[in-house]
Amino acid sequence: MIPLPPNRLRLDGAALVANWRLLAAMSGSAACGAAVKADGYGLGARAVVRRLAAAGARDFYVATWREAAALADLGASVSVLHGVRAEDMPSALASAHARPVLNTAAQVARWREEGGGVCDVMVDTGMNRLGLSAAEVGAGLLDGLAVDTLMSHLACADEDSAMNEEQRARLAAVAARTAARRISLANSAGVALGAAYHFDLTRPGLALYGGVPRAALGGVRQVAYPEAQVLQRRRVAAGETIGYNATWRAATDGDVAIVNLGYADGYPLSLSNLGCALAGGRTLPVIGRVSMDLVALDVSGAEVGEGDWVTLDYALPDLAARSGRSQYELLTGLGPRFERVWHD
Ligand SMILES: *Cc1c(COP(=O)(O)O)cnc(C)c1O
Repeated sequence: MIPLPPNRLRLDGAALVANWRLLAAMSGSAACGAAVKADGYGLGARAVVRRLAAAGARDFYVATWREAAALADLGASVSVLHGVRAEDMPSALASAHARPVLNTAAQVARWREEGGGVCDVMVDTGMNRLGLSAAEVGAGLLDGLAVDTLMSHLACADEDSAMNEEQRARLAAVAARTAARRISLANSAGVALGAAYHFDLTRPGLALYGGVPRAALGGVRQVAYPEAQVLQRRRVAAGETIGYNATWRAATDGDVAIVNLGYADGYPLSLSNLGCALAGGRTLPVIGRVSMDLVALDVSGAEVGEGDWVTLDYALPDLAARSGRSQYELLTGLGPRFERVWHD
């Protein structure tokens, strides 16, 4: 028997589904897919796909063929954002559930030569990350190709930037030059930019998992709650210090709980002396430096003892501001040591 770990990620399946429904409603007449790359932003892609497919999501996005293979038996349609390398072709051609998002002329040629069939295509409209140029599409690179979704990606959707409208207009112009079945632009923040950005299909990720990239997505609910067990409760006398480099010194006699969680689990080192946990309706501040596998909490006056579980505060927008880490990093950093426990 494999022993249960001393920390777990409590995952609110109802909140995940509610977030997808909110984004689907905000997407209007456009279909709403789901980005599940990086193992569902750290929550577990298989569990996410099962729940969102049951709720009605039909289009899922991963980065690599390895990620697509992990979802093969779920029956959901998966698009692979990084396209096809030569070494991906056997998997791609054999895969009934997944298709590539072609990004380069070489990928398009590879797919054509091997008779790949239906694909998606990424065009670059200003981010200069992945995708074909408008000129390549204009020159006929996609002619005769069976393109399901022609997509682009917004660089600044979480800001009020003039670049959003520029990218939208460029995609609309390129779209007119292709026979793609569907057009897609918006990620989570893009959904909140309004109907002009929705085209036929939206591709939220972050907001499904509780991230709030724009104020208009304030209705998004938290999904992931890290929980950890207390390993030791100790008494600390006034003047004593806690943890590496003695960055916290007790002003009075008090009590400290050492809990089974650290930066190796994705709990940011930058929350040293800044984070907090919640237990029994009380806020328990993180004191001292976050260690690799342990965090110290001030539990003075709180009834939290060895073996008890505490929930770390992980409200993403606020935590991102406090930790200096992006909401994306806070989710995708949640490590493999957590037991992932879904409720619903
Ligand atoms: C990750 C990703 C998304 C989802 O973005 P969020 O900001 O997490 O909503 C959508 N489209 C592409 C191409 C992506 O890489």
